Amino acid sequence: QSLQQIFDRLKPELCQLSSVDAQMKLLVERLQLGENEKKARGLVVQLLQEVFVEFFPDSQILLFGSSVNTFGIHSCDLDLFLDLENTKTFQARAKTSTEQAGEGMSDDGRSEDSILSDIDLSTASAAEVLELVATILKRCVPSVHKVHVVSTARLPVVKYHHRELNLHGDITLNNRLGVRNTRFLQLLSGLEERLRPLVFTVRYWAKQKQIAGNPSGAGPLLNNYALTLLVVFFLQNCRPPVLPTVDQLRDMACEEEECVIDGWNCTFPSQPIAVQPSQNTQDLCSLLAGFFTFYTQFDFPSSIISLRQGCALPITDFLSQAKDGKAPPEGPASEPKLGPLNLLDPFELSHNVAGNVNERSLCSFQKACQEADKFCRSPRYQNKSSKGKSWGLGRLLAPLGAAQQAHPERLVITIPFRTAALPEGLRGELHSAGDGFRLLWSRKVCSAVEVVLKNVLRCELEASTAPGPDEMETTLNDSTQSVESNSDGSPQRTGTKRPLPSGSDDSATPPGKKLRLARTAKADFPPWDCVQKHAVWVGRRKVRRELVKGPDIRPEGSCLELESQVTASIADKEPELKDPLEFKVCPQTVGGTENTRLLLNVEPGSDKAGVFHDFFHFLEVFVPKMVETVLESGAGSA
Ligand code: ATP
Ligand code: MG
Repeated sequence: QSLQQIFDRLKPELCQLSSVDAQMKLLVERLQLGENEKKARGLVVQLLQEVFVEFFPDSQILLFGSSVNTFGIHSCDLDLFLDLENTKTFQARAKTSTEQAGEGMSDDGRSEDSILSDIDLSTASAAEVLELVATILKRCVPSVHKVHVVSTARLPVVKYHHRELNLHGDITLNNRLGVRNTRFLQLLSGLEERLRPLVFTVRYWAKQKQIAGNPSGAGPLLNNYALTLLVVFFLQNCRPPVLPTVDQLRDMACEEEECVIDGWNCTFPSQPIAVQPSQNTQDLCSLLAGFFTFYTQFDFPSSIISLRQGCALPITDFLSQAKDGKAPPEGPASEPKLGPLNLLDPFELSHNVAGNVNERSLCSFQKACQEADKFCRSPRYQNKSSKGKSWGLGRLLAPLGAAQQAHPERLVITIPFRTAALPEGLRGELHSAGDGFRLLWSRKVCSAVEVVLKNVLRCELEASTAPGPDEMETTLNDSTQSVESNSDGSPQRTGTKRPLPSGSDDSATPPGKKLRLARTAKADFPPWDCVQKHAVWVGRRKVRRELVKGPDIRPEGSCLELESQVTASIADKEPELKDPLEFKVCPQTVGGTENTRLLLNVEPGSDKAGVFHDFFHFLEVFVPKMVETVLESGAGSA
């Protein structure tokens, strides 16, 4: 049964209940994992454990994520962590004893051609081990199919599907933090019974409104873990608080409960009993409404959400920290990847859990919160309809109508303003441009984007005469944008030829008035119509290795010449796409002085080969990095 089918059946039942609290509790009852489902999942875990231990002696399979964090629903995936620490010890011991014996047999009689002997866990990369895990799954686990490794994810995983149980699953390595944050969510559910109904309702609402819950985990939508943390953060900020901060929980733990993983302090009490119950007596109905009001009013652009401290930290602190190369106050030195939505992991403080969320997804989230907030203020939220009309959750959780659905194909790449990455000369130029620095910087970046698309990726580019993103109804939560425009209010255009940004040369800017725009963004620069004839995103890593003739320590996108060569090599050796991919890129500057960024709205045209999404996901990571390189090298201002 799909969630939609469940909702269709649930709606009349919800509308018959007499309170929103009762509706939320019914939702939990209907969506949560049943006992039989939990048992079936347990059996899969047991089976996998038995198989893996054959190949990886002493290994352990640990369950984490929604199957066990108390927020699991019928269709949720099975997140597993394959712990190979003990196997490494085993292998090291076996190696020593084999060397001592001077033969090809380990101490437990495993032959040299055992699958484990193919790989040295102390030196193998995660991708290599995962390939092996995938092979084992494919060959040795019945009912498992669609096995594939995703090595580009932040935490590389093997994905699979269990046919009989219709269950999707992930296996990760080195994921003690995932197991620990699962344990943390279990603790919170144990100490506050209002948390589960709230999380279930918010997760379901987000899914219905298409703003979260991307099953593949990729893409720019909020994932369920991030959404759950948003609920927890809201509850920390109720007056009086419904949940304590992570720092407070740490202080309530005893010595034996101390836990540090990868340098991060993950200490909290193991039992809810150690925590004082909340003084807050609000019912579920008012807390749910409060969630929507809270995030309708929340100042996302200037805040970093910290569950650790239970408050929003000013983004400026992080920006200056990043500039000074400072680490977060605690834990290993690295900075979170800042974006439109900044939500720090409760333990891994250098990780922005919502780092994948783009401007557009955040806008959809805020818009949905605004609508829900408005609805919660109307009588239809709390008062059962005497005429049998839908009310309360029956209405709040209705799926988006076709007309309201976000255009699925319009995707956005964000390039943040970061002076740290700019060469001295350009920094000076921007500084002396004063208020005009945004426009000057955008021009430089646009020019660099052009270099990346045209020279590095060999796209055919033409300045578009078609409408830009001003006609794309991009709603932005930003009231401080200023956009150069012609006197009729339309964005500047110079026929079919794009104005080439060149240093601080103001002659490229025709006289125009500055428009202060409230919610609708307008194009700063004319869009490009692009054509890509080659699958230049496929197999780049391999080609790069071949070109460098060995392992390349330079990160992807850090060398202009090398990347251009990689493209050239692919274009020369591989056949052209059967049908060229056409797409349009519309640049647009948004944000105030503190958080200026350039958005590239990417929209497919003809895509008969069906490759737009693959290409976009490549561009999303590649373009910002490459633009930085181009700016550094000064090639963009030529
Ligand atoms: P569901 O599977 O129902 O969508 P989930 O909580 O299991 O919900 P997954 O995306 O499957 O979410 O992630 C599994 C676990 O991995 C999470 O519970 C969390 O521990 C960890 N996790 C997921 N996304 C992130 C993230 N962005 N940052 C840190 N940890 C994450
Ligand atoms: Mg999951």
